[in-house]
Amino acid sequence: MEQKKAYKYRFYPSDEQKRILAQTFGCCRYVYNWALRQRTDAYYQHGERLYYEHTAQRLVRLKKQQDTVWLKEVSSVPLQQALRNLDRAFRNFFEGRAAYPTFKKKRHQQSATYASNAFTCNRQALTLAKMDAPLSIVWHRPLPDGCKPSSVTITKDEAERYFVSILVEEDINVLEVTPKMVGLDLGLKSMVITSDGHTHGNPKFAARDEKKLAQAQRRHAKKKKGSQNRAKARLKVARLHKKIADRRRDYQQKLSTRIIRENQVVCLESLQVKHMVKNHCLAKAISDVGWSEFVRQLEYKADWYGRTVVKIDKWYPSSKRCFDCGHILDSLSLDVRSWTCPECGVVHDRDINAAKNVLAAGLAVAACGEAVRPGAVKTKSGKPQRSRKASQ
Ligand SMILES: [Zn+2]
Repeated sequence: MEQKKAYKYRFYPSDEQKRILAQTFGCCRYVYNWALRQRTDAYYQHGERLYYEHTAQRLVRLKKQQDTVWLKEVSSVPLQQALRNLDRAFRNFFEGRAAYPTFKKKRHQQSATYASNAFTCNRQALTLAKMDAPLSIVWHRPLPDGCKPSSVTITKDEAERYFVSILVEEDINVLEVTPKMVGLDLGLKSMVITSDGHTHGNPKFAARDEKKLAQAQRRHAKKKKGSQNRAKARLKVARLHKKIADRRRDYQQKLSTRIIRENQVVCLESLQVKHMVKNHCLAKAISDVGWSEFVRQLEYKADWYGRTVVKIDKWYPSSKRCFDCGHILDSLSLDVRSWTCPECGVVHDRDINAAKNVLAAGLAVAACGEAVRPGAVKTKSGKPQRSRKASQ
């Protein structure tokens, strides 16, 4: 079964390529922000909803105007793609997955997406529209044989590093079915606790580099605004941030792959990190751990490999419920690491007990679609989708 998969590589542009990319990023940002303004104004001033098609038509007119004629100097494909990205941001907003789209800033990560008509990719030579030479890419792993990239996204991050992400359709083999199932609980001391009693360390990446980062931030704050030194200090802060993020993502990727490979069904709580981050004591630890990104990885890997991820209601009392007898405590404060059930006398490790409850609740949901709390359970399953498509 064909799945979309992105391969990301670092590359080092020539000065000429840097110039073209800078211009393209600038135009994409301009078009994105312009269209966001158009859509917002249309709605608030005329109660009208604009979609991709409308903004694409208006873009054609915009490029003919005297003061924005410079938009014609870059490839038109990434500009249309910027409108599509905005369309997706709006869809995510309307469907409750994200906040209202915001303007893109020059200082943040820059990106430009090229559809298949705006680049050529022969073996390992990738050349973008308006460029003469292929990008100098570090191919740390090869693209799958005979694949046809459907789009290419170029990014330049805050630490001024360039990456290319190549989207390909790839045949991913479903893993052999295994009887193993697991419940996961999100911990603060350990990132993931599994129902079979394993803890996967909390690699507090930010904490490790926190001192360095704090020092760099102080130095940055002291520099005179607009000075060359301030720009340098800002870059240093950005590099540290990126280093921390890279290390965290690497760890999460390895762990999510391992959990999906080893288990047929993975049950977890759908924590709404957004709300938990508002709680100050927990905020830092939770955003450090990056739970939501981890869950996202588990879900798409489950889709690839024919596994099932079951999410249970975050209000299910997984920590307070005794796994052995079902007794539910009135309260259990966060600092209590282990407790004794007043009903049956079993001593519980807080997190392992929670993970066991998550697994039991998740299996109930997966087995018969039973709601742990009616109307509040969402399940996401990789397997049924796969078999449906296969039978068509
Ligand atoms: Zn009990």
